[in-house]
This record gives sequence, C-alpha cells and structure tokens, in this order.
Amino acid sequence: DQITYDRVMAIIEQEHVRFVNLEFIDVIGMAKCVTIPVEQFPECLQHGKWFDGSSLEGFARIAESDMYLFPDLSTFTVLPSELQPLADGSEGDIVARVICNVHTPDGESFDGDPRAILMQTLDMARSLGYEFRVSPELEFFLLRFENQVPTPLRNDRGGYFDLSTDLATALRRRMASALQHMGFTIETSHHEVAEGQHELDFEGSEALHIADGLMTAKYVIKAIAARNELYATFLPKPFYGINGSGLHIHQQLVDVKTGRNAFVDESAEYGLSEIGRRFIAGQLAHARAMCAILAPLVNSYKRLVHGFEAPIFVNWGRVNRQALIRVPRLSTDPQASMRVELRCTDPSCNPYLALAVMLRSGLDGIQRKLELPAPMDENLFLQEEQERLRRRARLLPATLGEALDGLREDPLIREALGDSIYEGFIDAKSIEWIEYRQHVHAWELDRYLPVF
Ligand code: GLN
Ligand code: MG
Ligand code: MG
Ligand code: MG
Repeated sequence: DQITYDRVMAIIEQEHVRFVNLEFIDVIGMAKCVTIPVEQFPECLQHGKWFDGSSLEGFARIAESDMYLFPDLSTFTVLPSELQPLADGSEGDIVARVICNVHTPDGESFDGDPRAILMQTLDMARSLGYEFRVSPELEFFLLRFENQVPTPLRNDRGGYFDLSTDLATALRRRMASALQHMGFTIETSHHEVAEGQHELDFEGSEALHIADGLMTAKYVIKAIAARNELYATFLPKPFYGINGSGLHIHQQLVDVKTGRNAFVDESAEYGLSEIGRRFIAGQLAHARAMCAILAPLVNSYKRLVHGFEAPIFVNWGRVNRQALIRVPRLSTDPQASMRVELRCTDPSCNPYLALAVMLRSGLDGIQRKLELPAPMDENLFLQEEQERLRRRARLLPATLGEALDGLREDPLIREALGDSIYEGFIDAKSIEWIEYRQHVHAWELDRYLPVF
C-alpha cells in the first residue's frame, strides 16, 4: 500500500541505502539473495526482478526457469550495522533487505515457492475461522576453531564465569537486538543444557512473520558469530553423546471472530478444548510424514534418540520431556498460556514448509474430528501402565530414509506441499539419503576394521 511504500522510500533516503538484497528461500530451506542497486528498486516493485531459477536445488523444472521476485514491502529493513558489508557502515555501502515472493512470468504465484505454500495454508486456516500463531525456541551451538577442529565455546562451570561465557552472553544480546532492529522480537535468550549451546525464543506472532524471522535469525546468528571469529551451527546433532539442537514450536489457533485462543476450554480436561484435542490428534496422525519436513537431514535422526530431551515416540503429554507434543500446564492466564508445543522440529528445517505442514495436519484433525489418544506422562501413570502405552505407541522415524517413506505414504502432506515442492523435496532428499547409505563412516571403521 501507499503508506508502506512512502515509509520505505523515506527510509531509503534518510539512511542513504545503496543496495537492496532481494531474499527468498529454496525448497531445502537455504536463504537466497539477489542484490540490486537501490535505483532499480522502484522498477522491481512494479515489474518484479527477473532471475533464473533453474539451478536452485529442488526449485523448478527446467521449463519454468524464468522467475520474478516481488518484494513484500512489509519486510523491508536496513540491515543492522553488524550485517553491513563494512563494519564501520561507511556511507555508500548501506544495504537493506526485503523478503520476496516468487512469481512466474504470467504473474502467478510460483507453486515451488515455500513462502507461497505457507501463505496458502494460512489462507485456508483463515477461511475455517482461525489465525495460526506460533513461537519457536531456536537452539544452536557456538563453536570456536581450535587447531581446525570446531569446538564448543566453554561455558560457566561450577559457577565460574570465564571470558568466553561473557562473550557468548554478549553475543546472544547482540543477536537479539539485531533481530529486533529487523522487526523480530526475541522474548528470552539463554544458555542451553550443553556446553556451547544457546537458545533464542521468539515472542509469539502470526506464522508468516515467524517463518520470515527464523530464516532471518539463522543468518543473523551466523553473521554475528563470524564477525567474532566463531562459528554458529544449526546442525541438529553436532556431537555424539551431547544434547542436540531442536526447534520446539509453540502453536495456537486464534478464533478470528472472537480473537480468543481456540485451544482453551476451562471446563474441559487439562483446560484443552475439543478443537485443541483434534488439532493435536491431526498432528499425531501425520507425524511420521511431517518428520521429513520438520527434521530434514540425515543428522536430524541422530538427535531423535533416547536420553537427550528429544522425542522418539508419536505421543503427547503434559510434562513428559520425551513427548512429541507437549501441552504445558496453564498459568493463571489460560488465554495466553494454552498452547501446543511440537518438539521433533529442528533448526535445519525450512520454516515455511514446516509451519505449513504442521498447520495443515492440525486442521485435518479438526476437519476429520480425530480422537485424541490418552496422554503419556510419567507422573500420571504407573510405570507398568506407562510401559504398556509405550509399546502401543508408534515411533517417530529412526532415519531420514524412514521419514521419506512416511512422506511418500501421506497424501495430505503431499497436497499441503503441492506437487512441485513435494517432488523437488523428495528428489533432493532421496539423493542425500542414498549418498549417506553408500558411504562408509568413521564409526564402522573404528568398530569393525580391527575385528573383521
Ligand atoms: N535440546 C533439546 C532438543 O533437542 C531440548 C532441550 C530443552 O529445551 N529442554 O530438543
Ligand atoms: Mg526453551
Ligand atoms: Mg531449549
Ligand atoms: Mg521447549
């Protein structure tokens, strides 16, 4: 609209913006960027910026390689000083960024654009009367290269704060404030369980804004770490025997008419409404297929093992740290606190696709009125009963290969992704899985070569 346009043009003038990064995301979740001089920006807003999409992974069939980027002006911001090409931000080099939607030459939204898929799913939810609000917990490691080996930054031990602790704490603050500058609010940030592991928690917001924020956060965090000679990694399980990095996502459906949290029913068991129960049931029903999107690397499945606060069963619970879905206890304000936390997601996922399949699965549970099975909570059941339930519970996929099989068997998730993304994703990921299977890994040689 005109107001946003005028605001953006005023910022460009006041801040002496010279270049604009046109950003978008590919199917496997890599942020992409085309830089244009600011003089070209008005033209780009009108007609889009042409680019050749054919060599982007999983993005387009050859026949459809001509693509156009159309900026979503509401995402326009000048890059924070720590991301400017020159640390001193000297005039003449000021860079701004804007997130773009991808269109085909006939001006249609491109069905291989993950952002478009999320927007379509959000529209579908709105037509059923719901807004999808989420808040993610983004975990990562900060590593330092010691003799070329990436090593976690040591944190406080026994209450002793060494210099690097102060650095990590300061960096988390700088990461949060850079993101704030770009329009994304980090509600809390803290050190995580493992040495060198950290977490940033987003303030809850509508899902498209959060997906934009996650895509942004990953490179802001990497860039700020790199400026300080550190390496930030979102690899789900960087070290054997140590907690991995997850991306737990807290979800709410808000009733568009009343503005109220549709998961709350204070008179019902756990305070969880029927809509909430069905939403969870839908996510459980599609969990094995969703997993390929939510935990998309070979390495993701090294995180989803017993003993590291990551889920392994397709189950739900209230306090159970191993549950796939957790419904935390209500605080005194159920409207704000009632949410459904999904825990298998990890930070290597494409956030647009992840949120799209999560929402679509939950809506499917609502539309088909799926029944929610009993929760699995250690403190709610006798050990024996708990064990019986565990044996009955389905497991999450144990490998990327299993997750891809799950995806192939689930027509709803296919429909949610659209054929273009579904095919591009399965092709790219099958190649990755086959390549992994064909390789002989260090563990095999250590374990077997001296014996056999
Ligand atoms: N790092 C854990 C995971 O892999 C989560 C730990 C936590 O936040 N309680 O999901
Ligand atoms: Mg947390
Ligand atoms: Mg955490
Ligand atoms: Mg959590």
